[in-house]
Amino acid sequence: MSSAIWHPFTQHGLGEAIPNVTHGEGALLHTADGRRFIDAISSWWVTTHGHCHPAIMAAIAAQAQRLDQVIFAGWTHEPAEQVAAGLRALMPESLTRVFFSDSGSTAVEVALKMALGYWHWNGGKRHRVIVMEHSYHGDTIGAMSIGARGVFNAPYDPLLFDVARIPFPAAGREQATLDALEALCRQPDAAALIVEPLVLGAGGMLVYPAETLRAMQAICAKTGVLFIADEVMTGWGRTGTLLACEQAGIVPDILCLSKGLTGGSMPLAVTMASEPIWEAHLSTDRARMFFHSSSYTANPIACAAAAANLALWREEPVLDRVAALARKQGEWMAKLADFCHFSNPRQCGTIAAIDLNTDRPGYMNDLAPRLMAFFAERGVLLRPLGNTVYVMPPYCITDDQLADVWNAIGEAVISF
Ligand SMILES: *Cc1c(COP(=O)(O)O)cnc(C)c1O
Repeated sequence: MSSAIWHPFTQHGLGEAIPNVTHGEGALLHTADGRRFIDAISSWWVTTHGHCHPAIMAAIAAQAQRLDQVIFAGWTHEPAEQVAAGLRALMPESLTRVFFSDSGSTAVEVALKMALGYWHWNGGKRHRVIVMEHSYHGDTIGAMSIGARGVFNAPYDPLLFDVARIPFPAAGREQATLDALEALCRQPDAAALIVEPLVLGAGGMLVYPAETLRAMQAICAKTGVLFIADEVMTGWGRTGTLLACEQAGIVPDILCLSKGLTGGSMPLAVTMASEPIWEAHLSTDRARMFFHSSSYTANPIACAAAAANLALWREEPVLDRVAALARKQGEWMAKLADFCHFSNPRQCGTIAAIDLNTDRPGYMNDLAPRLMAFFAERGVLLRPLGNTVYVMPPYCITDDQLADVWNAIGEAVISF
């Protein structure tokens, strides 16, 4: 009998093969038919230290013996307290409050509700969200509303709310972005700017300079518009620092984290808020509380995984591994440049991307799936975004594994 599963971002009508993964270890995934794949995209950007990291797996196993789940409205538990305390110690000091949810999308929804709540309870009329062109913030209705519009969300367009958009700060056009932002921030309805700091992930691994990010935050601060950093992808070392915002020397009013929060092992997210956001909701009036929850908010087993991840960040030289991987990624990019034709090579920390030269650009043509199949034949899991091939591996990837990945890309650049 064929499977009943309706997979995400999968066109079942094409009948493409769906590998059945049985186990993972480090940067490797193994399938039921005995093949192995190098996970060069960290299983869609979540896996940081590697699959089945022993310390995280042990924490999950131990927690599963003690407490599986408990209501979190008005109740608490040790793993959640550990995560909150650990985040307070590791993240910028002014982000004093930790709100749990289950995914990057929900972390973003929570951030939007916090920002709108802040203005509502402060008697303001501000409600407009400012976003950057080509951004991606998730697939729930609110997150889609603030993301790029296109074929992905056309059927839902009537439901998506209006936002103000600033252009992507492409090289040489940074000032246009800043000017547009300043004009929008000066509108009386401007509530918050939400951005992916330094790298727009799903938009095609588009990178922009830290100075531009810094200038955007300065405009928000000057005009009183809340600055929300969606570090769901960029957080946890991907860009070379724990947070991408660090490279711009800025701290957001609200911060969204997920993906690498549990090392990529369990679904969990947090939205961290600064004291003024919290205080706007603080009252003896119950009608003013923050009305958001989901059944599995701060699930104890997921929190135990996050606590183990935080311990790894405290106790092991994770940023040294990140720096070493970033250096090697740079070396491979340089090597590739010597003998291959492609455009727009770019790198930010451990993330490296190139655009294949094709006369058929665009996300929906068959180039990306054909490339994916080409890489799979070579034992490499890569999932190009249109003609953009990017490598975002777990930090534990070995030199040999990384060589296999880049050699496969070199072959692809010649063959396609
Ligand atoms: C992946 C991603 C999200 C959505 O996270 P999910 O866990 O898939 O809901 C939001 N923002 C950014 C920047 C992301 O890369």
